[in-house]
Amino acid sequence: MTTRFPPTRDAALDRLARFVPRAGRDYAARRNFDLGPGQHLHVSCLSPWLRHRALTEEEVLRAVLARHTPVQAEKFIQEVFWRTYWKGWMEQRPDSWVQYRAGLNRARDRIATEDGLRARWASACQGTTGIDAFDAWARELVQTGYLHNHARMWFASIWIFTLRLPWELGADFFLRHLLDGDPASNTLGWRWVAGLQTRGKHYLARADNIVTYTGGRFHPRGLVAEAAPLEGPPPPSPAPLPSATRLPSGRVGLLLTEEDLSPGWLIEAGIRPVTMAALLSHARRSPLAVSAGVTEFTRALAADALARICDDGPIHETPEAIADWAAEHDLAVVATAHAPTGPAAEALATLEAALADRAIALTRHPRPYDLRAWPHATRGFFRFRQHIPDLLAAIGAGKATANATGAPAP
Ligand SMILES: Cc1cc2nc3c(=O)[nH]c(=O)nc-3n(C[C@H](O)[C@H](O)[C@H](O)COP(=O)(O)OP(=O)(O)OC[C@H]3O[C@@H](n4cnc5c(N)ncnc54)[C@H](O)[C@@H]3O)c2cc1C
Repeated sequence: MTTRFPPTRDAALDRLARFVPRAGRDYAARRNFDLGPGQHLHVSCLSPWLRHRALTEEEVLRAVLARHTPVQAEKFIQEVFWRTYWKGWMEQRPDSWVQYRAGLNRARDRIATEDGLRARWASACQGTTGIDAFDAWARELVQTGYLHNHARMWFASIWIFTLRLPWELGADFFLRHLLDGDPASNTLGWRWVAGLQTRGKHYLARADNIVTYTGGRFHPRGLVAEAAPLEGPPPPSPAPLPSATRLPSGRVGLLLTEEDLSPGWLIEAGIRPVTMAALLSHARRSPLAVSAGVTEFTRALAADALARICDDGPIHETPEAIADWAAEHDLAVVATAHAPTGPAAEALATLEAALADRAIALTRHPRPYDLRAWPHATRGFFRFRQHIPDLLAAIGAGKATANATGAPAP
């Protein structure tokens, strides 16, 4: 799996450089074609690195706009901002993550007691439903850790409306196997397909659409032609967003999480760490075991990030181990990039309490990019996207950049 997605920032930069020429008209015209494993040539396949910020949205946007005009690259730019938008939307409604986890627990209770449901769930995950396209995508996901966006939409739709399985079990299946598995993009992507996010508007997969956009690879039979959107409670009320935090001084340790593996910006901002470590929470994505591919990719990407900055540094998977590391190094403060809603933020909350017991502070620092964009993620994407020109101007995207990728310090 790691051969397709080598777990290094250099591999991400190389992928970006190769994709940039195709980010304009080619992407706009062909991005919806899912031509199969190894043939995802009309999309970037950058999501495993972007999700962990081993490569950042800013770097990608700058590189693309150094080569194309905003009009030529409009579609691609919008897709990158979908990620920003989902992160900002969930950050203001962390209860949407809590509700998803509660729904997942209820669905797991059902599969423990309902034999028929358990058999249909297992068949969907194993790719033995008899629906050719769906079964192939289930296998592609498990084998490669990636699915094309159109395949994710079709797959989620068939899961919900044809197989009539609880959407939370499908979201969990994705999170356990996607190298880019992300609490916001995944949960809200599934909610969007189900009709829970844009209420009353759902996404129904059509067989003829699948035939066309898979280049005739599949001819799925038995898909429902009509179904009502799912119903659920209204979205939770908005919660306040994080704000900029003062930089700490004294003996500071820099902590990486899988939400931000490019900590160079914190050092450029003035943090002077005496030591570094990483706290990984990928195992908390699901109450079930996450795939070996996800574990290996996330660990190796974190090791790569530490090696770039400080040669070495421990990687732990429990907040208690990080609290011990902080005490061993006699730290006054552990500083980390703000982790948006999800398992990493939950682990940081546990860590904060463990550090407090040792009289060590935890400071969380949101990126300026997020601070500018997230306040606009209050309603639908179409309102959010009106702010894209200003958000691009704020990062200087579109102006000539010095190198092919526009990459600043990692
Ligand atoms: C049901 C469902 C579940 C999803 N789960 C995830 C997930 O767990 N993690 C994840 O990163 N994306 C998720 N997506 C969004 C999208 O499918 C992937 O980001 C995209 O397929 C990644 O492939 P790429 O890098 O080749 O994308 P490209 O088309 O090359 O797009 C460039 C980048 O833009 C971002 N992006 C593109 N489309 C979207 C989108 N619709 N929503 C959010 N960001 C987007 C990604 O960071 C992507 O790498 C999900 C979509 C659906 C419908």
